[in-house]
Amino acid sequence: MSVQIKKFTFNAFQENTFLVHSDTVGVIIDPGCYERTEQQNLFDTIESLGIEIKAVLLTHAHIDHVLGARAVTEKYNLPLTLHEIEVDTLNAVPSYAAIYGFPAYSEPAENYVLLQGGETLEYDDIRMDVFFTPGHSVGHVVYYMPSIHTVINGDVLFQGSFGRVDLPGGDIEVLKKSIFNVMFNLPEETIICCGHGPETTVGREKQTNFIHQF
Ligand SMILES: [Zn+2]
Ligand SMILES: [Zn+2]
Repeated sequence: MSVQIKKFTFNAFQENTFLVHSDTVGVIIDPGCYERTEQQNLFDTIESLGIEIKAVLLTHAHIDHVLGARAVTEKYNLPLTLHEIEVDTLNAVPSYAAIYGFPAYSEPAENYVLLQGGETLEYDDIRMDVFFTPGHSVGHVVYYMPSIHTVINGDVLFQGSFGRVDLPGGDIEVLKKSIFNVMFNLPEETIICCGHGPETTVGREKQTNFIHQF
């Protein structure tokens, strides 16, 4: 069986959590599952697939993408994989979790696999290239899977638009470089799985994305 992707939409921010899996193994990307019911939905899906979870990855560490990081890393006894300079973003989450409406947020253990960008990650038959794409957050990365022509892109591009740059570490010029030099260099047929909203493609966004106005 080839590699497949399941999308879950979690928490008040309607954040997309992705489960990338084969018939034997899987990885969880951006665990936004905050409520117990959301977490159980993810765990039940994994159990019914009969797969072994090999890694928990972050594109970036804004609160909406990490609300389930502790639950998931504890459940599968795994470290959290993220860019090395995104750890500061993760460490800032408790300072604003309550005012964003997530008083029950608790931090994942300080057990990390740190990325720099440029790596190729391999989990049995799942293979991902890591690209460093800052601008929405300082240590944002995307996970590109050439075998299935898909990139898990977090909050870099959305269908028609792009990630906000007004949060700490945001920078429109840096984001433009990530989009034009990294994302738009991927093959046009590449499917973009976004951190919010529907999927799109590199070709479509090259034609129509609002970033061209900036
Ligand atoms: Zn974000
Ligand atoms: Zn987000």
